[in-house]
Amino acid sequence: MLFKNLADTFDRIEAEPSRLAMTAILSEFFKTVGTDEISDVVFLTQGKLRPDFYPQVLGMSDKLIIKAISATAGIPESKVTDIVIEEGDPGTAAEKLIKNKKQMTLFSDPLTLERVVKGLVNIENSEGRDSQDKKTKLLSNLLHDSEPVEARYLCRIVTGKMRVGAGAMTILDALADAFAEKEDRPDIERAYNVTCDLGRVAHTIAEGGMEAVRAIHVSVGSPLKVMLAERLRSIPDTVEKLDGKCAMEYKYDGIRIQAHITKDSVKLYSRRLEDLTSNFPDIAESLRIHCRAEDAIVEGEAVAVDTETGNMLPFQEVTHRRKKHGMDDAVKDYPVHMFLFDLLYVNGKDMTSEPYLSRRSAIENNFEISENILMTTMRIVSSPEEGQQFFDEALAAKCEGIMAKSVAEDSVYRAGARGFLWIKYKKDYHQALVDTFDLAVVGAFYGMGRRAGKYGALLMAAYDEDEGVFGTVCKLGTGFDDEFLDKLPEMLEPYRSERIPSLINAKMIPDVWFEPYVILEVTGAEISISPIHTASMGHIKEGAGLGIRFPRFTGRVRDDKDATECTTYSEITQIYLLQEENPDGT
Ligand code: AMP
Repeated sequence: MLFKNLADTFDRIEAEPSRLAMTAILSEFFKTVGTDEISDVVFLTQGKLRPDFYPQVLGMSDKLIIKAISATAGIPESKVTDIVIEEGDPGTAAEKLIKNKKQMTLFSDPLTLERVVKGLVNIENSEGRDSQDKKTKLLSNLLHDSEPVEARYLCRIVTGKMRVGAGAMTILDALADAFAEKEDRPDIERAYNVTCDLGRVAHTIAEGGMEAVRAIHVSVGSPLKVMLAERLRSIPDTVEKLDGKCAMEYKYDGIRIQAHITKDSVKLYSRRLEDLTSNFPDIAESLRIHCRAEDAIVEGEAVAVDTETGNMLPFQEVTHRRKKHGMDDAVKDYPVHMFLFDLLYVNGKDMTSEPYLSRRSAIENNFEISENILMTTMRIVSSPEEGQQFFDEALAAKCEGIMAKSVAEDSVYRAGARGFLWIKYKKDYHQALVDTFDLAVVGAFYGMGRRAGKYGALLMAAYDEDEGVFGTVCKLGTGFDDEFLDKLPEMLEPYRSERIPSLINAKMIPDVWFEPYVILEVTGAEISISPIHTASMGHIKEGAGLGIRFPRFTGRVRDDKDATECTTYSEITQIYLLQEENPDGT
């Protein structure tokens, strides 16, 4: 296949504001792609080469791209830099410059998809002292034979910023449209949630149809999207929602780890699918030794502990283990315990469809409790009073609250889903009128007065889980200390976008836009109907969204969460409804 076909499709999608129309274009295109090429097509649509759980290391800097464009177009770097600044995107700059150059040269080899993928893999693999030169040459090689529109997307793929606006949900819709029926869509999404590999799902459906997709199962080495909890306002509501009887577990304040264990290797993944094995080598080794099964996928929370007193320490302590360097010291200085709470696979068996209590006893049967591998504390609770008692014990043990889990037969592990089979209740819910929100930074406003020259406030958004987009909920200007305000521009810079990113729905216009990536924890006084914010648009009132009043940053950056894991429209709506039912928060 010619790369031009793909680039032209990206161009059409990019120009299309409607998600439905985007899906239709993609779906038509997918039907024309061979089964051996569809996974590459799907990855490139997201600006990637591989599944979500591989680190995406293409990330070439603008400087290197400018060098490559300069070498290809025969224009001095300073001039290319000016055009990149003017266009606000190296991709469009490359397109413009290559267009001028094309008018002068006639001979070039059309790019095939295969050559592009090979070239990109070579860029990815360039290592060593002169790796930057090698990367620049490889990109320049591809640009030499590019049509202008191809140059635009090549430069965007290597920066990891595609700007075409087709997220995983749109691609799944398009796959369903191209190769299956509408009612098959949940099964296709399930296959993605248990593999985190869109390329594999695309290849499977294109080659073997829905039967093959349904046969995709959990496997060791391929992380699953994690199951998430809903929240309710009180312990009695929680017990009642779970039919008067549930399992309550301590909610530990640490880092969630999904461990993939075989007899001779263990890999640990974060909920954002980063490989954390080298950050927790002690936990990996202990899991390997204490797992009695041939293979298993187990989940738990890694918490920092004071080994002298045995007390659990606050979340900040375990984050010392997330560093990239100096891990040997961190392992010694910050001892960690892992509290196991779920088992998704064991001895060749997919456990995700088993009920909660069977999964829990399978953990006990297959793992030996050791010094640093423990079970979460759990109790079956049959009344609000017992629940309250357990909650108080959890707080006394320095946990942040409880997780209530359904003990019904249908209490399965729903990868990637947030639902009422698990309900969280945290101590913050006591303190604030409403609880904390995890919101994505999508924009910033320049500061005034003491904050002149820095960002003074941020535009924050929640996630629309149905449409896969982000809608704004508040302008956040309080709770920042000077140190954080100084760090902010650098922290946000990689996600800066010259125009409104296609996944964002907003009426309020900030000075600077960002792709939704950085998540901050925010508290608020209440949720109100908002004419200016777009989250939960139309849920409560036609044409109006919901906004958070008096938002305040708690000081916690949720770098363990993916943007799609931030607070959702349905959570915001639900909190609004609870608040209206119960205005004094009792
Ligand atoms: P939150 O991050 O506030 O959405 O709460 C959900 C997180 O709580 C999960 O992703 C886990 O990392 C963590 N957690 C702590 N203890 C438990 C537990 N016993 N069961 C499940 N999740 C837990």
